[in-house]
Amino acid sequence: MTDTTRTTRTPRAHRLGHLSVLVSGAGVAGPALALNLARHGARVTVVEKAPALREGGFAVDFRGHVHRTVLTSMGLWEEIHAHRTRMGRQTVVDADGTPRLDLPAQLMSGDVEITRGDLARIMYERTKDSAEYVFGDSVATLTEVPEGVDVTFEHGAPRRFDLVVGADGLHSHTRRLVFGDESRFLRFLGHYVAGFTVPNHLGLHGTGRLYSEPGRCVALSNCDGDPDLAGALLVFRSEPLSYDRRDVAAQKRMLAERFAGMGWETPAVLDALEGAGDLYFDAIAQIHADRLAQGRVALLGDAGYGATMGGMGTGVAIVGAHVLAGELALAGGDHRVAFARYERRIGGFARGCQKISGNVGPFFAPPTERRIRGRDRMYRLLASRPMAGSFKRLTEKAATAIKLPDYPA
Ligand SMILES: Cc1cc2nc3c(=O)[nH]c(=O)nc-3n(C[C@H](O)[C@H](O)[C@H](O)COP(=O)(O)OP(=O)(O)OC[C@H]3O[C@@H](n4cnc5c(N)ncnc54)[C@H](O)[C@@H]3O)c2cc1C
Repeated sequence: MTDTTRTTRTPRAHRLGHLSVLVSGAGVAGPALALNLARHGARVTVVEKAPALREGGFAVDFRGHVHRTVLTSMGLWEEIHAHRTRMGRQTVVDADGTPRLDLPAQLMSGDVEITRGDLARIMYERTKDSAEYVFGDSVATLTEVPEGVDVTFEHGAPRRFDLVVGADGLHSHTRRLVFGDESRFLRFLGHYVAGFTVPNHLGLHGTGRLYSEPGRCVALSNCDGDPDLAGALLVFRSEPLSYDRRDVAAQKRMLAERFAGMGWETPAVLDALEGAGDLYFDAIAQIHADRLAQGRVALLGDAGYGATMGGMGTGVAIVGAHVLAGELALAGGDHRVAFARYERRIGGFARGCQKISGNVGPFFAPPTERRIRGRDRMYRLLASRPMAGSFKRLTEKAATAIKLPDYPA
């Protein structure tokens, strides 16, 4: 029997077998787009600068029905649940480790939380046979011609693609090549963040500790993965710094200087930093771009609307990939129509999520002792049962403020 309800309500998707798409960046947004586009038959190549998949990073979370709908349609919801962290409460402590307040899991970890590395690996595994992955290379030049985009690479041979999508993160190379210098788009929020793995010398198990001094914060957590390891998170308040993003040794020296003399477990964390092989260090910053597309090139994820920690950057990237692929499928690959609709749908949604993350630096590292006390008072209140519900609703409001069309699977 024919299901007439479905055929009248669901917009028609076109197969995209004729469409070749180059995605720059195999972080979260790139593989998410590859997964969505492959379902519509597009030929996708993902080029990643790093020599292999970058599996570092802390836990990322998903909240509300929009994230759930998108992850379900991508066939990821169950697997994310299977690999979820079992993070419990996180405790704000004094210099001697005395608990000051508990931040409940509900406040910090959303509906489901997974480490960034697990998420990246799951999406890569799902797409490595349907998309071509090229590691250890990067786009060198992009030239738009009437039939497509001519791309040269730092190492590989030149190729032509119908479309190019920059999913290469906060410091997007694609954005620089096509849209202009980073200084036009990056809004620095006055703090830096570092994350790396350390020995779990506190014996944490599915829980975390957070210690702040004026302008600095050290947090340790174990999300119930390897019991011998913990994630260290360092946040500090600073004027904009000029440093070489490829010089990890210099970043370690800078962190050691910034955190010298700090109490609690900081000396042990700095000892572990010396040997850490997975340091993630970046500014706490957002990307504000007026346009997400120019000609045959579009921006996705952090490259187009990076929100930094607490801004649900991963959730927004996943929703962005779903919308971009869905619009391309509905428009039969016509990028002029699809990119314009993508920009309209995702722009306001991403800005709403960015607003939530505006205070993440001062939350971790308030500038004065008085402000640290003030933060603790406020979060004690927020963590109380009636307020926790409103806090959850507030973050979910931003995470669900988009009406998704019924893109056909
Ligand atoms: C190693 C790592 C650890 C992270 N850890 C955290 C964390 O702890 N907390 C947090 O809030 N956010 C973290 N992030 C950022 C977070 O992943 C993103 O905010 C979010 O998931 C959106 O993902 P994205 O794919 O847009 O960007 P990203 O996840 O940053 O991915 C961008 C990808 O593009 C690649 N790339 C960069 N330049 C080029 C180029 N020229 N050519 C090809 N590829 C290029 C990068 O190597 C990276 O794999 C981390 C990102 C990385 C790369």
